[in-house]
Amino acid sequence: MNVLVLGGGGREHAILWALARSPQAPRLFAAPGNPGMEPLATRLDLNPCDPEAVLAAAREHRIDLVAVGPEAPLVAGVADRLREAGIPVFGPGASGARLEGSKVFSKEFMERHGIPTSSFERCTSLPACAEALRRRTPPYVVKADGLAAGKGAFVIPTLEEALDTCRSLLEEHALGAAGATVVVEDFVEGFEITALAVTDGRTIRLLPLSQDHKRAFDGDQGPNTGGMGAYAPVPWGTDALRERILREVLEPTLEGLQEEGIPYCGVLYAGLMLAPDGSLSVLEYNVRLGDPEAQEVLPVFGGDWLEVVQRCVRGELAAIPWPEPRGHALGVVLASGGYPDAPRTGERLQGTEPFDDGTSLVFHAGTGRDEAGNLVSRGGRVLTVVGLGETLEQARERAYRRLEGIRLGGSFFRSDIGHGAHRNL
Ligand code: ATP
Repeated sequence: MNVLVLGGGGREHAILWALARSPQAPRLFAAPGNPGMEPLATRLDLNPCDPEAVLAAAREHRIDLVAVGPEAPLVAGVADRLREAGIPVFGPGASGARLEGSKVFSKEFMERHGIPTSSFERCTSLPACAEALRRRTPPYVVKADGLAAGKGAFVIPTLEEALDTCRSLLEEHALGAAGATVVVEDFVEGFEITALAVTDGRTIRLLPLSQDHKRAFDGDQGPNTGGMGAYAPVPWGTDALRERILREVLEPTLEGLQEEGIPYCGVLYAGLMLAPDGSLSVLEYNVRLGDPEAQEVLPVFGGDWLEVVQRCVRGELAAIPWPEPRGHALGVVLASGGYPDAPRTGERLQGTEPFDDGTSLVFHAGTGRDEAGNLVSRGGRVLTVVGLGETLEQARERAYRRLEGIRLGGSFFRSDIGHGAHRNL
């Protein structure tokens, strides 16, 4: 069985690692991949967002199944093109990917189907933004409609700054077409959790709950990033909470997709806020695994990930007995100096071997090789170091101990990943 994974980050490294553990021993390919994946997969040098290039490579390498890592190829219709050509894909088509690709679509979808989310207004002019903001109280939440690689959502303390943000999106085109429409929504207070689920379009199953840390620095300070670390499962993620997430959010989402005639096979990610009064509110949908959440959720998922993917593409997810999570995982992202605004790349990276030492894993993201073949940093988020343990504490200790042996000039990481894990709600 030949499986192609699209993408080249830490999430895709974790997907390949999980697929490689399957008793079916698949032959793996990654496009474009990264150096850390080389022991697991053959790398293909192509643009994963180019449907024709992906199709040609899939044919050339006799690919039986494609698993799409990031959102951009899904929004670009890569899954549609492969399916048309008869190649099974784990990941929704462009119609389903709008849940992530357009914040207006996702908010209106939630409104149509009674899925809990904060009240919002869609604005295409500055005066409309000003009115929407004046109807609200600080902090203000302003979001660009389109994909912005995690840089399109703003939580802003004052009205003046919120208006400036709207101006920069709508009039100065700071995010190009992605910011041509703006969503202004109510701020929701609470505790954020990531609910990842898989679906074949008929059945939906929840993976272990996780929690990401989006701010760059300790104590949730500094700018928002793609994510600085995560852990799974969330200790207070009781069966009752999981049941509520399924009943209040995931099942109505799947039913909404069915009602609207949108086929959906792949991962559905609900970014949730659990408010102090116990209510749930959806902050966002994503149509793929989270990064860094995949790096923790896949190691604690107790089943065969290849089987999950295969059953989803065949419409047979209901047939798999759903496993209990296996232990705990805590991942810490090692970032280049200057990330997220101006990451400094090209620094020598040392101490990443072995990839798996039995109690920790080193998933590569922004890594590359220099002319001499040495590992160097090539992006903002360079690695996710994941500690595994029987308890969350043990997983945390192992992740940080492993990080001590890794060297990258000018890099930084958060020292408080998992700090909210034992919070009483
Ligand atoms: P991602 O990088 O996850 O794709 P995004 O750019 O799609 O992010 P959101 O996830 O919608 O944007 O928002 C980013 C962050 O801003 C959230 O993780 C949350 O911390 C905060 N946030 C977003 N909406 C709200 C809200 N209504 N109330 C409070 N905080 C919010």
